[in-house]
Amino acid sequence: SYGPAPEDSKIVEGWLESHREGFGHFIDGAFTAPGETFEVRNPATGRAIAQVTQGTVSDVDTAVKAARKAQKSWAKLSGHERARYLYAIARHVQQHARFLAVLEAIDNGKPIRETRDIDVPLVARHFYHHAGWAEIAEDELPGLEPYGVCGQVIPWNFPLLMLSWKIAPALAAGNTVVLKPAEYTPLTALAFAEICAEVGLPAGVVNIVTGDGETGGAIIGHDDIDKVAFTGSTEVGKTIRLQTAGSGKGLTLELGGKSPFVVFADADIDAAVEGVVDAIWFNQGQVCCAGARILVAEAVAERFETLLARRMETLVVGDPLDKGTDMGAIVHPVQLERIKELVAQGEAEGVTLRQGTAPDGCFYPPTLATNVQPASVLSTEEIFGPVVTLTTFRTPSDAVELANNTRYGLAASIWSENVNLCLDIAAQVKAGVVWINCTNVLDAGAGFGGYRESGFGREGAREGMRAYLKTPAPKGKAEDLPA
Ligand code: NAD
Repeated sequence: SYGPAPEDSKIVEGWLESHREGFGHFIDGAFTAPGETFEVRNPATGRAIAQVTQGTVSDVDTAVKAARKAQKSWAKLSGHERARYLYAIARHVQQHARFLAVLEAIDNGKPIRETRDIDVPLVARHFYHHAGWAEIAEDELPGLEPYGVCGQVIPWNFPLLMLSWKIAPALAAGNTVVLKPAEYTPLTALAFAEICAEVGLPAGVVNIVTGDGETGGAIIGHDDIDKVAFTGSTEVGKTIRLQTAGSGKGLTLELGGKSPFVVFADADIDAAVEGVVDAIWFNQGQVCCAGARILVAEAVAERFETLLARRMETLVVGDPLDKGTDMGAIVHPVQLERIKELVAQGEAEGVTLRQGTAPDGCFYPPTLATNVQPASVLSTEEIFGPVVTLTTFRTPSDAVELANNTRYGLAASIWSENVNLCLDIAAQVKAGVVWINCTNVLDAGAGFGGYRESGFGREGAREGMRAYLKTPAPKGKAEDLPA
């Protein structure tokens, strides 16, 4: 059944209670004593739920040393032996699925229906998938070696899922990691650390250091980190690119987006309307690949808009732990303010707004903006909230031009019953992922990543594995090398 059983919530409460004195970091296979802590709140209720340690430069250094010490023997294990650990992690994630789903909903504010049916199952899927890669990497990607120690910094929108995207391929390839979860949502990463201990993962292979952007900066800037993987805002991504320039560190960046959602006149309109629900109202719109700009053919625009507005009004915004909730809380009051500010700017520009309903507190209603000019702040800025713009187009080439009118290039979604048209348009849209008659479909077996200001590098599948391996330096004496 859907919705958390009362006993699941009790287990989470018990777990939080047992850490009332605060959480330390997970370094070298064990939890450190809590240091100076910061508060983590449940955004739906505003209640403080945990105290988490602010990682210092010295904490980061201890974690990097532990990762370095563990790396050689981890990489020396056969792929099969590493795979066994990854399989075990996947199985334990499944065993604790209900606990993790409730914890993620409380920490982030996303609906339990999503954490239970999407986030947590995909986390397990990522570890299973990369267990497979650990087994075959030597044959499939021959002649490469792991980077060594990876520094990984992740955002708050899919806390545990982003962790799995980072840790699973890194470990499969023979790297060890120091990972920092986002300061709003560190709890499932700490629960994951317990899973690492539970499965007997060798000490130092996974190290979790909590803290804010400064802690993240300390990881990325640490001299003994060989590769940096970052998911977060374009702004911070740019800083990291500068910070690592010339350091010789490997780097992949998964950044923001403002993805187009293109509806042609011959599309299955009902399906496309449902698609918008998944594109922008999933996870309160806090999705880097969210379909945030609807481009709809003029011929069907009126009907589409009417049906969409009607559907929007049926969405239930509220308690993330209620199985009937479609949209939960915005992750943090700071993010809520940002959404409100951007929408107010749009209003000042003359945009027409239609909104569903939302309770008081850290919630924002599903919002549809029409009469939006291409230069409007609502067309250009990543809102990272449940706000979608709707613009019309006449011809397929207009649609392509509008779709590409952005500094981002993460994803796109195309809706038409004419598959040839879809494939033709897909090839012209500058996006790392293009979905046809669907949206936000994510799988460990498909590479994910962006172009332009959405970053570079891919996560998932072969390319994602390749991103955690490097070409070794030539060995032996110069005279042994081919002339
Ligand atoms: P953010 O960039 O503020 O923070 C992301 C992480 O980086 C957090 O852990 C934060 O503590 C850390 N950080 C902040 N400043 C840092 C610095 N100077 N050095 C090192 N680390 C630092 O982003 P956010 O607000 O947490 O997340 C939202 C953004 O992430 C959105 O723009 C979204 O599009 C993007 N995102 C992208 C993807 C993707 O795969 N492309 C996925 C999820 C989110």
